[in-house]
Amino acid sequence: MPRQFFVGGNFKMNPASREQKRSLAAILNEATIDSSVEVVVSPPAIYLLPLKEILRKDIKIAAQNCYFKPNGAFTGEISPAMLKDSEIPYVILGHSERRTLFHETSEFIATKTRASLDAGLSVILCVGETLAEREANKTAEVVQSQLKPVVEILKEEDWSKIVVAYEPVWAIGTGKVATSAQAQEAHADIRAFLKSAVSPAVAEQTRIIYGGSVSAKNAKELGSQADVDGFLVGGASLKPEFIDIINVNK
Ligand code: PEP
Repeated sequence: MPRQFFVGGNFKMNPASREQKRSLAAILNEATIDSSVEVVVSPPAIYLLPLKEILRKDIKIAAQNCYFKPNGAFTGEISPAMLKDSEIPYVILGHSERRTLFHETSEFIATKTRASLDAGLSVILCVGETLAEREANKTAEVVQSQLKPVVEILKEEDWSKIVVAYEPVWAIGTGKVATSAQAQEAHADIRAFLKSAVSPAVAEQTRIIYGGSVSAKNAKELGSQADVDGFLVGGASLKPEFIDIINVNK
């Protein structure tokens, strides 16, 4: 079965007001979007439910993070069970900003992935190398080391609820997009890793999306690569150009 094209919008800690959140929703609500694309947007936690209330139903919502416990004395955290109960179907885990600024390890991210899947959520699992790691020819090694703890926890279980987002750290928010050849090579390496570490079927079915300065200008070429199954979009997801990225194959 062909892999369904996926476009996610990671709003990060934006928009800065409820008014701006309503404007963003209006842009999405009024747009004609390619119905063959799975579209997911990810606002800050405080806007998850208000956005869900006003957003068209063919666009899904993702949290930007969660903890792994169902409830308890974990001040500031939100659980997978709470997201599920609130009918938020997706969660982004392992974003480079969480890894770097909040010191999340790949093992911790794997634990949260397990808990999210157990609660019935789908996971956008982010991986990617720094510029220094790429320049040291360590891209595949780094990405595999980020995926390994998840592979060890999940083994050959159902991977249909995982979307892997390859996001080179040097391309996130920098305007420095990976070339289509760089993206294709990294995605093919991830697929080959899933094939050997999990199974050929999981490798074939798992969507691997690219993130890092995706724009309406570069989306067509990136999206036409054999192993690029869509995008995770940061900055451009806050602009009308997000619609052009969603509709890139139309
Ligand atoms: C992101 O934050 O996931 C991202 C890809 O950001 P940007 O598109 O702004 O580089």
